[in-house]
Amino acid sequence: MLCRACVHAGWRKFEAVPHCKAPARDGERPTLTFVPDTKDRCDQFEPTMPELPAPNYQTAAAIYAAYEAREVATLPRPYLGASAIGHHCARYLWLSFRLAKREQFGGRMLRLFQRGHREEAIFIEDLRAIGCEVHDVGADGKQFEVIAHGGHFRGHMDGAVLGLPEAPGTWHLLEFKTSNTKSFAALQKQGVKEAQFKHWAQMQTYMALTGLTRAMYMSVRKETDEIYTERLEADAEAGRGILERAEQIIFGAEPPARINNDPTWWECKMCSMHPLCHSTDVPAPTCRSCAHVTPERDGTWTCERHNLRDVAFEHQLQGCQAHRFIPILLDNWADKVDASDADNVVEYRNRLTGLCFSNAEGGANDYSSIEIHAAADKRAIGNPDIEALKAAFDAKVAG
Ligand code: SF4
Ligand code: SF4
Repeated sequence: MLCRACVHAGWRKFEAVPHCKAPARDGERPTLTFVPDTKDRCDQFEPTMPELPAPNYQTAAAIYAAYEAREVATLPRPYLGASAIGHHCARYLWLSFRLAKREQFGGRMLRLFQRGHREEAIFIEDLRAIGCEVHDVGADGKQFEVIAHGGHFRGHMDGAVLGLPEAPGTWHLLEFKTSNTKSFAALQKQGVKEAQFKHWAQMQTYMALTGLTRAMYMSVRKETDEIYTERLEADAEAGRGILERAEQIIFGAEPPARINNDPTWWECKMCSMHPLCHSTDVPAPTCRSCAHVTPERDGTWTCERHNLRDVAFEHQLQGCQAHRFIPILLDNWADKVDASDADNVVEYRNRLTGLCFSNAEGGANDYSSIEIHAAADKRAIGNPDIEALKAAFDAKVAG
């Protein structure tokens, strides 16, 4: 658009033009009209542009979705991890090891976890830059793995270092972490054992299983790149205690007690297992929640029902029709009243309704483990109306 009739070009009348920014002259409002192909463009003129539509950015959401899709396609860890063994609740560890529930993380959080892994390479580069000898992978190109209890308990070290300025002649275990401002301040104030007990227990596990006597803990404050370092000594007694704790969790036939029976207890309120411990949810019907399975000392899992000596992990995730829950896993809402190994039947009384049902298949009052897990309202389990529908339509409880 070009101007031809504007007070700033010597013209005097015409329509009011709200977009002209020029000051009025001689008490008159600046005015102009627009005519294409005119040479007298007003240098005060700011054309009115059509408004852009509101931005509809989708890139970040697509990236998060890609993280989530990759996570769904990734198998859960089949072992109890050294990075988790210092968790405050043994029951949480047991339920996690038994694949009771897969924790769901959004794409942003999953990306944040990767941030922690990316920092490991930077820390190693930093240490090498100051002359340290760092070993972060073995001959196979993989992180060093520590194993106990036949392989049911495992961890992966960030590395080992020699030549730290504080102790140049001693090999140290390396553990790299990231912190936000709050947790970084806690580390500075309290040290790793008090501020990040899980990290401390993780390092004690690695030292106990490798024979290393010293560890170097390094954490970077993400907002500023400030580095926290702390040297630790191996605590042999703590190491033994950690391995015993792992043993009890791995080979325990039933979950340890809740850390608190009050569902409003703060640690439980923040826990992903809360619906399993304090409501009527039951674990996923994998082999690991089945009454027929046994974790063996050599790291395998045995199924007594099918006489399988080394049940493959992929199979464990699927379970089978013969799955019967470890009865205590239903203890929030059902009491075991009887069982028959020969018939593979476990009978319960539903405390929500007073009605009885069987964890079994084929009978009118029978519910498979998949149905029991799927029922959102456990009052449906044992309900005669539901059983009539199941019988009439050969249906299953699915939600
Ligand atoms: S809800 Fe409470 S008792 Fe249950 S696993 Fe979590 S912390 Fe432990
Ligand atoms: S009975 Fe089925 S679900 Fe249970 S341990 Fe054996 S294979 Fe797994």
